[in-house]
Amino acid sequence: MFAIIPLLFLIPSISTLFMTARQDSVPYSFFTEQLREGNVQSITVQEETVTGILNREVTYQNQPIREFETYIPQSVSGEYLDRINQEGVEVNTLPTPDTSGLAILLNLLPFAIMIWIFVRMSRAMRQQGGGMQGMFSVGKSKAKKFQKSDSDTTFGDVAGADSAKVELQEVVDFLRNPERYQQMGAEIPHGVLMVGPPGSGKTLIARAVAGEADVPFYSISGSDFVEMFVGVGASRVRDLFKDARGSSPAIVFIDEIDSIGRQRGAGLGGGHDEREQTLNQLLSEMDGFDKTETVIVLAATNRPDVLDPALLRPGRFDRRITVPAPAVRDREAILKIHAARRPMEEDVDIDAIARSTAGFSGADLANLLNEASLMAARARHTKVSYEDILAARDKIVLGLERSGVVMSDEERRTVAYHEAGHALVAVHVPQAEPVHKVTIIPRERAMGLTEQLPEGDKYLYRRDYITDRLAVMMGGRAAEAEVIGEITSGAASDLKQSYSIARQMVLEWGMSERFGNVAFGSGEREVFLGSELGHQRQYSDSTAREIDDEVREILNEAYSRAVEIVQTKREGLDKLASALLEKEQVTREQVEELLGVH
Ligand code: ADP
Ligand code: ZN
Ligand code: MG
Repeated sequence: MFAIIPLLFLIPSISTLFMTARQDSVPYSFFTEQLREGNVQSITVQEETVTGILNREVTYQNQPIREFETYIPQSVSGEYLDRINQEGVEVNTLPTPDTSGLAILLNLLPFAIMIWIFVRMSRAMRQQGGGMQGMFSVGKSKAKKFQKSDSDTTFGDVAGADSAKVELQEVVDFLRNPERYQQMGAEIPHGVLMVGPPGSGKTLIARAVAGEADVPFYSISGSDFVEMFVGVGASRVRDLFKDARGSSPAIVFIDEIDSIGRQRGAGLGGGHDEREQTLNQLLSEMDGFDKTETVIVLAATNRPDVLDPALLRPGRFDRRITVPAPAVRDREAILKIHAARRPMEEDVDIDAIARSTAGFSGADLANLLNEASLMAARARHTKVSYEDILAARDKIVLGLERSGVVMSDEERRTVAYHEAGHALVAVHVPQAEPVHKVTIIPRERAMGLTEQLPEGDKYLYRRDYITDRLAVMMGGRAAEAEVIGEITSGAASDLKQSYSIARQMVLEWGMSERFGNVAFGSGEREVFLGSELGHQRQYSDSTAREIDDEVREILNEAYSRAVEIVQTKREGLDKLASALLEKEQVTREQVEELLGVH
């Protein structure tokens, strides 16, 4: 990838712009004196303000003055002014205060903000029941009740997530036939915690459970509970459960439960009274279910590690279901579901899209197809085509094409060689994923891109696969250095990514020669489970230095390999680069043909 680095040079140049526009402010009498001496070249008058330029520089109060600004006395009548001038009095003038609309507004701004805050607060108070009429609705549950007709989502709408569906099928069965389980003396589970990264379909699955079981669905987000006033959250929980019990069997769905269920007395913000009360209320509600009530609480979070252990005790959220980020087959299934909802060309290669969207969540995929539909509609296509989807994906990943970009020939050539370098190395190292497309069409977030398409999802990464990947990442810079003779800022994101991979090799995967099979733990990456976040580093400063050395060695090795390939296959590199300069974009077939490989 050829990254775009924001230009920090911009800031000083703006301030110098303002500097040069400034004139020296001088007394009015200085101006008339220069006038008498015939030293004024030109003036510009706006209301009482006069700005002007002198023929030659004059020193006034030890300041060399060439351009000046002064104000004409307006309230002194001409007669006096003449006398004053004759006496050689120094006349100082001040501009009349700026009473333009903007200045008034700026003066009033603080008051406006105060009034606004006041209004907001009083409105919030009223909503909390602080006002007279609101008195009786204090903390009324905001939960929405979804009747059977509303939650017509079923498991059929959820693609992938097979193990979650299997486990929840049991919950559906409880809800449908509670008596059967009760007769057997079986305890129905109270709480099911769904854990998974954002957009993986947790909310969707919860709705599907309600739809399948044909029961009312009460949903609320944890953040709705956390209010400014102590006690409101707790009373909302009470109301919510009262309603749900009243229409048992029912499902209560608490989204983002981590916002109330954080470990008590821990974390930032310290002891948060309101949150603790809310959580305590939730715990006691869940303990208070009696045998005849079939209310199942589903909760979702992407931070299970921060949850209070009391929530996870038996009888509460003792079932945990993982809703993982979709793997390639799941992505294919999700795409199919969302594709079926729109007119699609026959030849859309869903499998290829699934493979080229590694890291996309279910929500990302839904968004991808929506974006493609928008593009198709804008282009007045009758159906969504494969090209629409690819264009939508590139737009999401790389940003819009920047049509107005004018690059110098030298820059274009640099980008072309950079991308050709990635592609060349990818073709010539054994474990690299096949090159799918190489482009130097400039976009918002990158000037060029070499795209590799994995054959399938990988669950294990072999060392040789990783080192080959690092070599490919270094290919861009290696080609720049070899051909242009100078390196550029375009390799920034390549370097950042390869650094993070190399660190993981040493710290987590035990893949360094010096340390061998040791995992130090990352302690720095923000991983999805986040539990490592606040952890202490497990090694000494001197080990840290050795780790840095090791990481550097891995990266240097990768760079050397890239340089060697770029040097020995220089002919292929030139061919690729000139094809790019000519066509802007080359496909896998073209790359293979140019390089004579298959
Ligand atoms: P989460 O609650 O895990 O953040 P959501 O359930 O809100 O994710 O997912 C958002 C949207 O993404 C859903 O409404 C749906 O359109 C789409 N989506 C996510 N996962 C799936 C899936 N497994 N199958 C089909 N659509 C999905
Ligand atoms: Zn690059
Ligand atoms: Mg959600």
